[in-house]
Amino acid sequence: MQIYLLILFFFRIFAENLYMKATLEYIERRFKEYNALYFGGSLPPVSIKLSHAKGFLGKLSYQRCKHGLFGRYRNECFVLRINVRIDLPEELVEDTILHEMIHYYIAVNQLVDSSSHGKIFRQEMERINREGGRHITLSHKLNEEQQSQAHVHKSRVVAVVHFTDARTGIKVVPSQQRHILYWHQTSQRRFPIRSIEWYYTNDEYFAKYPSSVAMKIFLVPSPTVLPLSDAKKIIIEGSRVYVSD
Ligand SMILES: [Zn+2]
Repeated sequence: MQIYLLILFFFRIFAENLYMKATLEYIERRFKEYNALYFGGSLPPVSIKLSHAKGFLGKLSYQRCKHGLFGRYRNECFVLRINVRIDLPEELVEDTILHEMIHYYIAVNQLVDSSSHGKIFRQEMERINREGGRHITLSHKLNEEQQSQAHVHKSRVVAVVHFTDARTGIKVVPSQQRHILYWHQTSQRRFPIRSIEWYYTNDEYFAKYPSSVAMKIFLVPSPTVLPLSDAKKIIIEGSRVYVSD
């Protein structure tokens, strides 16, 4: 039991520090999960799109159509858009999905709120924040602090490779566990490597290296030039990958 809790704890650290761009699969998975958790599974499936536009984190669009001459207006043709222009903390991506889901809940149930973030919206937002320990806000935009963090804190996973002939190399790998594991195992089969140290860092020094799983290692003159003193170490044990504190 104790070991199990420890593993969860390490993964939590990893998740908290992870900056990401959402994918369609990711948003669909979260939508299903949150629908079950916070809306009793009542929301019908919705069309989801990725957006690269500037100025918003998420957006729900729909049409208001009248059915028949004396018919009532109904909201339909819903599209939920999530912005993937810049890397964002995973928690902010999740809260953005939830924010748009509240708009969807109101519109799909044909509820009339007092304004676009009116009484009903606030009630639902506060309920979900309370029940889920979330931090959904009324804003669709990044505040200035988040903007600058999103820019400065682009985190990277860096492999520092020590070859058997004492040379040192660098490789930046996408920050998914499966990519890290793949690169860790494959590179050691392919090159004369003595050891690999893995780091999770925000330092812009590493921006010049392409992030990929290609088996390409960039030689560095000396490992002491690398700005890694503030980086977190990534530990690989068997098929487990986690960030140590
Ligand atoms: Zn909104």
